[in-house]
This record gives sequence, C-alpha cells and structure tokens, in this order.
Amino acid sequence: MSRVYNFSAGPAVLPEAVLERAQAEMLDWHGSRMSVMEMSHRGKEFVSIAEKAEADLRQLLAVPDSYKVLFLQGGASSQFAMVPLNLLQGRGRADYVNTGSWSTKAIAEAKRYCDVNIAADGGVGNYTSIPPRSEWTLDPEAAYVHYTPNETIGGVEFHWIPETGDVPLVADMSSTILCRPLDVARYGVIYAGAQKNIGPAGLTLVIVREDLIGYADERTPAMFNYKVHADSGSMYNTPPTYAWYLAGLVFEWIGQRGGLSAMEQVNRDKARKLYAAIDGSEFYANPVDEPCRSWMNVPFILSDPGLDATFLAEAKEAGLVTLKGHRSVGGMRASIYNPMPAEGVDALIAFMGEFERRYA
Ligand code: PMP
Repeated sequence: MSRVYNFSAGPAVLPEAVLERAQAEMLDWHGSRMSVMEMSHRGKEFVSIAEKAEADLRQLLAVPDSYKVLFLQGGASSQFAMVPLNLLQGRGRADYVNTGSWSTKAIAEAKRYCDVNIAADGGVGNYTSIPPRSEWTLDPEAAYVHYTPNETIGGVEFHWIPETGDVPLVADMSSTILCRPLDVARYGVIYAGAQKNIGPAGLTLVIVREDLIGYADERTPAMFNYKVHADSGSMYNTPPTYAWYLAGLVFEWIGQRGGLSAMEQVNRDKARKLYAAIDGSEFYANPVDEPCRSWMNVPFILSDPGLDATFLAEAKEAGLVTLKGHRSVGGMRASIYNPMPAEGVDALIAFMGEFERRYA
C-alpha cells in the first residue's frame, strides 16, 4: 500500500516507522500479552513506558533538572487558561504578544483572569510579520509574557527568543516544538498540543520551571493546577496512555535520526525549497515577511482563487492531501512537520510546477 503525503496542520503525519512499530506491538507489548491501550496507567509496564518517554524528551530538548515535564490532556487550548491560573500569583497583569489567530485565542482566554497588556501586535501588517522586540511595550509589573513562537494558521514564526528579563516567558509551541534545538532555560513555561510534532491528539505537553509551580489561584480546579500534576507525575487521574506511548515512540524516532540538530537541518531545507518554489513563480504567493516565515506551516495562495478546488482535487489525485488553507484564511497551507519526508515536499513542488504550467 502506498500512503499519501499528508500536509495536514494537525492531527498530522506521523513517522511511518512509528506506526509500524505501534502495529507490531499492538496485541502484545514486549511480552505483556496485552496492548498498551489496555494497561493500567499505574502498572509497572506503563510506568516504564511513561518514564522512558519523559527521559527521551528531556534528553532531546536538554531540559534542565529545574523543570518539570507534564503529560496532560485538554489541548493547548486548556493551557490558555492554565497559564494565567497558575502564573498570575495574584498580580492581575500579564503581557501578551499578538501575532495572529492562536495568540488572539490565548489573549481572549487570559482576559477572563487578568488585565492583558498587548505588548506588541502584528495586526498593523495583517499578521504577516512580527514586531521587532525594540518596539514592544512590556509592563514591568506583568506576571509573565506570553507569545506564540509559531502561528499555525498564518505561518508566522519567531526565529529568535524574546528577552524579557526576570519576567517569565511563556510559549505556545504547539506547532514548532521539536523542529530544532531549543534553549529551554530561557522559558518559564513551554506548552504544546501533541498532534503536530509530538504524536497523536489527546496529549498536551507542558514544560514548567519548578519555581513557578505551587502558586495557583485557590479556586483553580485540581485538573488545571500544575502542582497537582507535578506532584503526581502526571498521574493525578488517568493520563492519555496510548498517546503518551506513541509520543515516546516519536521521541525515540527523532533520537535515532540524529536528534534535533538533524531535524533542524532537514526542516530548514524542506522550508527553503518550498518557499523558493513559491517565490520563483508568478502563480503562487506567500504573504509572510521573509525573516518570519514558518518552517512548519507554509500558507500560499494561487493567483486565481477560482482554481483552488481544481488544485486540491488534482493534488489529491497525485497523493498530496490536506492542502486546503484554514477556513479563516482560505488558500492553501502545506504543513511540513518533522515526519514529512523531503520527498513529500519535492513531490508537492513538482506538482505545483506542473499545475502552474497547465493552468497559469
Ligand atoms: N495553539 C496553536 C499554535 C495551535 O496550532 C493550536 C491547534 N492547531 C492550538 C493552540 C490549539 O490546540 P488544541 O487543539 O490542542 O487545543
């Protein structure tokens, strides 16, 4: 069976080797004669799976010992509320940088809990660029600074880490985590929904500096309290065991392929080639400022939107699927996460060239 190249923004393509291994281990995990899905989360088999996944992730990202790694549920969207509930510590003020749709959602949720200072807003450029750090107006009294390193819909990515002094930096890394090495020590909290670069939907990864844990507002639900999860090794309640296991297989796969430096090299090349093909054509266009173009999500439009449906139908025929842009922006979007092989991007570029020759 030949599989498609799946450019979905998430849930997204997983490494074929990971799916094959999950298949091989489906009925009998390592002689346990049961599936991981059927195991008690507190049994020694699953605990070993969970511990290995965490250890492998810590190694990949070189997570300092002073950080907890939490394997939660609720998606990145729950973190939009968990961050203020846990980090405000009674201060009532937080800084947010707005670079597009996902920042906007995080801001809307934070406003339930505190005064939000929009320290910078990419709206002046229609969210196609990132305001330089020198133009940000940070509030010295803010409890934290929140930003979205990669806007999955707009395809706008920070290729630098903002300096915020002693104010903890919080990052929604849902669509960029693990695409290259990361200096975790620069952050107070990093969070990510798993369904892009980590594994299947249902798991949410949170990396939080220990000194920020333990100060949640007293009305915070237990399930939204970082301390509750940190103290129980993410097993306060039943964690998403199968997603956690698959994430562990993905971490192993990344390690086997040379870790995050190797991912960086491949991802940089894939993105460079795709943007070059778009820029080199009169028919396709990407609106994002070059220095902040996303390596993971590449939106592009056709010069004649009347051809969108034909493009998508013919792409699907060619085995290139889920290229439709987000419903809020239209056009196309190719998400090219870690597991998308370079051959997939090459096939997309070849298809785009051929489509242009036939229809432009
Ligand atoms: N933040 C970003 C950057 C995202 O891309 C997404 C999902 N596409 C979310 C948050 C929401 O994530 P979830 O669906 O896991 O709540």
